[in-house]
This record gives sequence, C-alpha cells and structure tokens, in this order.
Amino acid sequence: MIESTPRVASAPEVAAELRRREAFVMVSHVKPDGDTLGAGLALGLALKSLGKRVAYFQQDAVPRNLRFLPDAELVSQTVPNDLPADALYVFCDMSDWRRAGEHLPPVNRENMLDIDHHLGNSLFGKLNFVLEKECSTGTVVMHLLRELGVPIDAEIATCILTTIMTDTGGFMHSNTTPEALVLAAELMRAGADKEAITEQIFLRKRVAATKLLGSIIEAMKFAHDGRYCFSFVDDAMLAQTGADGEDTEDVVNVLLGQDGVGVAALFKAIEGEIRVSLRSNGCINVQAAAQRLGGGGHFRASGLTYHGALQDAFSAVETALVAEGL
Ligand code: 5GP
Ligand code: MN
Repeated sequence: MIESTPRVASAPEVAAELRRREAFVMVSHVKPDGDTLGAGLALGLALKSLGKRVAYFQQDAVPRNLRFLPDAELVSQTVPNDLPADALYVFCDMSDWRRAGEHLPPVNRENMLDIDHHLGNSLFGKLNFVLEKECSTGTVVMHLLRELGVPIDAEIATCILTTIMTDTGGFMHSNTTPEALVLAAELMRAGADKEAITEQIFLRKRVAATKLLGSIIEAMKFAHDGRYCFSFVDDAMLAQTGADGEDTEDVVNVLLGQDGVGVAALFKAIEGEIRVSLRSNGCINVQAAAQRLGGGGHFRASGLTYHGALQDAFSAVETALVAEGL
C-alpha cells in the first residue's frame, strides 16, 4: 500500500477516533513541562469522564512543581501490560515521537495520535492534530474537548490553564494572544486554580535553585556586541549548591532578559549529557538554529542535545545561531 502524505487532521476526525477507541495512553516528552503534562492530563481526565480507560506514560518523574496537577499521581514510567492491541497512544507537545524517550515500548503508527503546536512537527501519527498558531498544546486539546462536548470541570480547567501559563511564561511571551487571554478567563470561571499554578510554577523556588541561579549568572558571557548571552551549568555547580536539573528550567530567560541581549543559550552539562536551551526575543529563529544541530522547538524557544565536549557545544551553537542571522 502506498502511504498517503501525512496531513493535519480536523477536530471532528480526531474526536471520532477518540470516541472509537476504548483505551488510551497519554504520552509526555522527556524533561516534562507544564504543557506536555497538562495537555495529557486534561485530555485524560476528559476521556475518563466519557468512560474510557486512560494511562499516563512519562519517561521522567513528574517535576516537583507539577505534582499539584490533578491525576499527576497516576503518571507512570511504565505502560500497563494488559492494554488492548488498539490502545491509542496520544503524544502531546512533541514534534517527533522520539521525544517521548527510549523507554516507551514500540508503538505502531496506527495507534499514534500526535497533538502539538510546534513548528516543523514530523506528522508522525496515524492522525496529526497540529495547530502551530496555538500558544500551547493544551489549547490544541481544548479544540478536541469542545468537539467532544466534554464539560470543562475545575480539574480539566486547571490543567489547561497550566499549559497556557507555562508556554506563555505567565502571559509574558509574544504568543499571549487575545484568544489565549479569553480562554484563560473562561478557565478561571470554570474553577481553574490560577493561584496554585502561579505559586507552584512561577513564585516558589528552592533556596538551592536560587543559589544555582547565582552561579549561572556569575558564569554569563556576552558576545556579538552584547546581543548574545550564554552560560552553563555542570554537575559540579549542582553539587556545590545542592540543586538538580529541575532547578535549571527557567534560567535561560534570565539570560535573555539582560539589557541589550536578543539571543540567549544555557548549556546544561549534566550526567554526561549536554542539553542546550535557546531563546530569542524574535530577532532570529532559534528553532531553525536548533534544527541544524538535531533539535527543534519554536521561533523564540528551542532546544537540542549536543554530543561532544562543552567547549565544542559552545562553538557549534554559536555557529548555528550566526547562520540564522545572529
Ligand atoms: P527547553 O529549552 O525549555 O527545554 O525547550 C524549549 C522548546 O524547544 C520546547 O518547546 C521544547 O519542546 C523544544 N525542544 C527542546 N529540546 C528539544 C529537542 O531536543 N528536540 C526538539 N525537536 N525540540 C526540543
Ligand atoms: Mn508546548
């Protein structure tokens, strides 16, 4: 059979598929954030309200600041072994299924649903519901909940609002559209716990995390007439401050926030791996830069894994950024 070119499915097509299946595995990406997890939990809660069986798979443990989310305690690092053969795996917030991590057992394409908002999604699923204009994957899920006619209860509302607040940086990034704000208001009316989200994701920091931020700021370097700011974190800095990888999540935005800076990079050399977070204020496309090195993401926020030495990572990333106009 000749496989037809993958295309983006419509909300009614995806809703019909969701109604047809009985069992689901909601899949989040490695190093999970509030969007991948909140989107999966929201859809999982909705499917359960329709009487479906739902499991949640995520290779990494739920980060401390997301454990308040409803159903977070049900997220597992394994897949149940008694699922029916046609269980649908719903990949949330990833441009490729490989972002789910290598612990996910092999899944037949027929059983993959891809729900996302990234640029350059590889349309890897049987159905691909990818809306690049949406601010979060959670707001993409929202289209499906409306199509399914599921009532938005307080728990679902908290999950979706978490996705919006995560991916807009608390309504600060340029993807904060009027539509996102209107939806956020609706979700608050439906009972979304905005206070908990603000407190857990944005305000509360471990002392160790703040100390780590200090050492990353100490190590900041500026280049290209001060337009490019980069820094790094390694195992020694974590050991010195008592912090861990989770405490590095938002730090790259501090680098981007320095006067005169338009592009920022944070290199995380942790446990034998170099993860790079890239941010731009819109002056260049960091998704394209990350893609040059095997990563991806959005125009203003992207990431990649570098295989090699830290010094080589610095120069490879700078070269990729320059190629995109830095
Ligand atoms: P972060 O810097 O917060 O880890 O990631 C920023 C954005 O880039 C997120 O949207 C994330 O999904 C995407 N991203 C991060 N790392 C990778 C990667 O290795 N591959 C791809 N395709 N996208 C990534
Ligand atoms: Mn997202």
